[in-house]
Order: sequence, then structure tokens, then C-alpha cells
Amino acid sequence: MYSEYPSKPEMYERQTNLELIKGCHYSVKSSYHLLMSQQASSEASSSTAVSAHSNKIWSAHCIPRYKELIWRACQNILPMRKVLRNRGIQVDHLCPMCGEEDETIEHALLLCRFAAASLFASPLSIRVDVINTSSFQDWLRVLMLNNDPHFLAAIFEHEWALWNRRNEFVFQQREMGFSQVLQKANTISMGHNEKKQNRRT
Ligand SMILES: [Zn+2]
Repeated sequence: MYSEYPSKPEMYERQTNLELIKGCHYSVKSSYHLLMSQQASSEASSSTAVSAHSNKIWSAHCIPRYKELIWRACQNILPMRKVLRNRGIQVDHLCPMCGEEDETIEHALLLCRFAAASLFASPLSIRVDVINTSSFQDWLRVLMLNNDPHFLAAIFEHEWALWNRRNEFVFQQREMGFSQVLQKANTISMGHNEKKQNRRT
């Protein structure tokens, strides 16, 4: 006679299978967690460093658009010609400002003749080491050892001015002197700080 209820041996068998499946499931799960925890511990120091780096960027004393630019530069996601070219977009890969090197983030923001000269000539007096500058992020990481948030803000403002100058040239065909661009960055910063103060009062 057919019964929808299993007999005791069947019940036992099903239960045992279920336990086996459960056991298997848990062991896979445990292995996964073990692997993840091993990976997490091996990456802990680097991920802590990365998040500390990001925190410093976002806590700099300057306006959000400057911080966003720096964060994007560190993530290598600014639409530089070389980056676009590597993604299959047909654009000239050379720097639009000097036409001598590939336009990478490092070139545009640090190594292009004008960028390097302006960083050195500015009150920041930063000399960019052409040979040892492997990435924008590493370059910034060294400067971030200086914990003065105003120093960082000045770097961010300077970099934004360089980026703005490049975009004015590419999209508006307007060649601006660096002092003009830096002045614009200062004006935006001052306007932003005034608005902030007005909101507080
Ligand atoms: Zn250049």
C-alpha cells in the first residue's frame, strides 16, 4: 500500500542523507570562510592602507570637486587619452598640451613640463621625480606623510588647476596661463568657504 509517509528505514536514510548534505554544505562553507579569512588577513594591511589613503583624501580641507578629482586620479579613472585609447576609443594618445608623451594621469598632472614646472615654482615647491614617479597614487602617498590638511588642500587645488587648464584647452581651445587657472581655483575655494560660513551663521 502506498503511503505518503516514509517507513522508518526510509526516514532514517533520508535523514542521514540530509545530514550528509548538510555536513558537506557546512564544510564547503567553512572552507570558504577559512579561505576568505586567510585572504582577508593577508590583504588586511594593504586594504587598511588603501582606506587610510582614501580617508585622508576625503578629509582634506578643500572643496569636494578637488577631492573627487584626486580620488579619481588615484583610482586611475580620469578620462586621459591613453586610458581611452587602451579601451579601444580612437583618440590621439598624445598629451594635448605638449604633444610629446602619452597622456596618462601621471603625465598630465605631474610630469608634463608645464605641470612639473608649476608644482616647483608654486609655494608648494614640489620637485617631481621623473624617474621614480610610478603612479599618481604613490606620489601622493609620500606627500600624505605630511599630516597638515592645509598642505594637502593646496596640492589638491593645484592639481585641479592643472586639470582645469587642460580641459579649457581641449574643450574650449583656450590656452590659459597657470596663474589664471590657479586664481580661478582660489576663487572657487573662497566662494565655497564663504557659503559654508554663511550656512553656519
Ligand atoms: Zn605633456
